[in-house]
Amino acid sequence: MIYLKTDEEIELMRESNLMVARTLGEVAKHIKPGITTLELDEIAETYIRDNKGVPGFLNYHGFPNTLCTSVNEQVVHGIPNKKPLIEGDVVSVDCGSLLNGYFGDSAYTFCVGEVKPEVKALLVATRESLYKGIENAVAGKRLGDIGFAVQNHVESKGYSVVREMVGHGIGKNLHEAPEVPNYGRRGNGIKLKSGMVIAIEPMINMGKRQILQEKDGWTIRTVDKKVSAHFEHTIAIRKDKADILSSFKFVEEVLSLQSEK
Ligand code: MG
Ligand code: MG
Repeated sequence: MIYLKTDEEIELMRESNLMVARTLGEVAKHIKPGITTLELDEIAETYIRDNKGVPGFLNYHGFPNTLCTSVNEQVVHGIPNKKPLIEGDVVSVDCGSLLNGYFGDSAYTFCVGEVKPEVKALLVATRESLYKGIENAVAGKRLGDIGFAVQNHVESKGYSVVREMVGHGIGKNLHEAPEVPNYGRRGNGIKLKSGMVIAIEPMINMGKRQILQEKDGWTIRTVDKKVSAHFEHTIAIRKDKADILSSFKFVEEVLSLQSEK
């Protein structure tokens, strides 16, 4: 069952997603060699609670933290810990919040200090593939058009698409129907309707697409231990153009200030 959201509900979801966007912006200020993902998690939790939200992932099916922090070969669902990030790492920071009864969900993969050019290129391509997917997330198109656009973009560059983990509908629940794969065929799948709200979240691997789950019961990593990247927006389907409810604006303001230094 896919819940179509009213315009009022979409505005409430925008608030929740902007809280996530600002939280990621706060986290961005602190990402550098030496910081731990647990410290990033505390920054995020404090920011969300200070702004009257509730961390969306904390205790979700028993998940122990506010952020999912997935470093290098980790794809998604990494658990924050006390190991310092080091120069050359990349870390996907995935954040959810609950505000006004609605969930927000967005993720960004950050470089820690200077990162190898080939890793940076993977991040660029993954971010681009998210926006290729969003271009196809309009009323009248089909779910497969989104997946095709993501897959086509990254496979043309020699990367691979994680199949087992997918995007999702979102609203009063963090995960709602439909599932939103990052692969697919044009013209296949359910028809997209105005008022559907979905999280599109390409998980793209430098090497092979196969993944496994670590013994902690959460962390997903690549089998070949090559790097993976992950970017996510929550969007509302509309007639001519998707309405992106989350935002990378706050993150990218911080990153552009850092690069000017
Ligand atoms: Mg997420
Ligand atoms: Mg998600």
